[in-house]
Amino acid sequence: MSVAADDFAHVFPIGAPRQDWTRDEVRALFDLPFTELMFRAQSVHRQNFDPAEVQISTLLSIKTGGCPEDCAYCPQSARYDAGVRAEKLMALDAVLAEARAAKAAGASRFCMGAAWREPKDRDLDAVCAMVEGVKALGLEACATLGMLTAPQACRLKEAGLDFYNHNLDTSPEFYEQIITTRTYQDRLETLDRVRDAGIAVCCGGIVGMGESREDRVGMIATLASLPVHPESVPINMLVSVAGTRLARQNALDGIEFVRTVAVARIAMPRSVVRLSAGREDMSEETQALCFLAGANSIFYGPKLLTTPNPGRDRDRELMHKLGLSPME
Ligand code: SF4
Repeated sequence: MSVAADDFAHVFPIGAPRQDWTRDEVRALFDLPFTELMFRAQSVHRQNFDPAEVQISTLLSIKTGGCPEDCAYCPQSARYDAGVRAEKLMALDAVLAEARAAKAAGASRFCMGAAWREPKDRDLDAVCAMVEGVKALGLEACATLGMLTAPQACRLKEAGLDFYNHNLDTSPEFYEQIITTRTYQDRLETLDRVRDAGIAVCCGGIVGMGESREDRVGMIATLASLPVHPESVPINMLVSVAGTRLARQNALDGIEFVRTVAVARIAMPRSVVRLSAGREDMSEETQALCFLAGANSIFYGPKLLTTPNPGRDRDRELMHKLGLSPME
């Protein structure tokens, strides 16, 4: 396939990020020869970031299990018997001890996840104290607590929250096969409230849940058409957990995962694209291809909420091997 010069210029989003991506354009990126796609993604990446830097985040489950939602992939849903015990919200001191350890290990952002449909106001008081404590340590603070009202988003902002994570998970069309207890529109509204409160948005999705490529196209096109691109875009590979509805899901091909990362990089050129869940089962070579495709953030630490993640030593070794260093 030859690539015409004007086609080339069109796909390189030099200048301000675009919010008018069409599905046809996103699909055309997915359909490119792999080498061409990687070249474009790496070129866009270099226009916007230092290609040798990776942002390091640590994720802690501050309230595990017992969630009333029915997300098909999630071992924390109370609807599945996935061996996750419902726990209470962690105490402030314990959370801050974890944050200190994360900082000492090189993390610049500390993310706190709670398995709630939405936080109750009294829970929010406790989370706001955690956010203040994390900020006082000199770390960026991120939280993922489910749906938020506008006043709750404002309270988190006042406490100093930098980022709020709320994923779209997949395409609007495939969504109902994954979650029935909240709508796609509910998610978009929470994202609007977070944005309106002045908190940076962390929003991405999960691939390998049995969706088609067209659903991956739809997910990226939706993310890239938000009024402002999410500052952080986590791309997760499904971790199939026994007991959940997706326990027997066949793994997605690694090259297709790398393509998804590359298309996210091109469509959202200034967003930090995070290689999130699923790294534990990914080869070093696939992870290296993801970095080449424009991924520039990872979660550090042995656990991602309740699923395994590569240990810090393994990650340090991989970063060293690839000559990558932590983003300040
Ligand atoms: S993904 Fe979040 S909202 Fe869905 S079941 Fe798990 S903890 Fe609950």
